[in-house]
Amino acid sequence: MAEGLARITFDADQITAVNQAVGVAEELVSNFYKFSGSQMLQLNYDIKTAVQLEPHEIVDAHFAQIMRYRAQKKDSLLEVDATDLYRICLQDHAILAAVNRFRHLRLYPFMLYIVCHELIHVVRFRRFLQHFHVAPEERQLEEIRVHHATREMLSKANIDDIGPVFEFYCKWQEAFEEMGEIVTPSAD
Ligand SMILES: [Zn+2]
Repeated sequence: MAEGLARITFDADQITAVNQAVGVAEELVSNFYKFSGSQMLQLNYDIKTAVQLEPHEIVDAHFAQIMRYRAQKKDSLLEVDATDLYRICLQDHAILAAVNRFRHLRLYPFMLYIVCHELIHVVRFRRFLQHFHVAPEERQLEEIRVHHATREMLSKANIDDIGPVFEFYCKWQEAFEEMGEIVTPSAD
């Protein structure tokens, strides 16, 4: 899509469905990994939709991308990982295009899959099970692992209309490059 072209964003009803999906996804991930409330907070992430995104956070090729914002202390050799923020940037236009194109795909279960998937990535980065920057082959393997975990998590949860979402992901393998990173100097 050419730069400057307006991209479609979620309407009010769609935002309601997205917020519901985010709440349920957080609960599913928390239960799946047996996290306490404070452990969930330590994941230190946020989730934004298109109207809240900066231009560099918007991509056309993915349903979501994860940005890692690193607060690097000035004059320090140490990088404090706990202060990194992972931002899950939902790409409204790409998500709605898929929902419009594939008749059986419903927004709510699709969002549930997308958010669970991205949160599993964040958990794995935080637990150092996966590095943020890896070779394409390793990234591809990690995608497969994360898709497996997402499917396992959602299969157990008995979600309405999740079948077409699983089918969609079998047919349309998500592209692998969904990570971006910005290093920002911290305020102090
Ligand atoms: Zn992924």
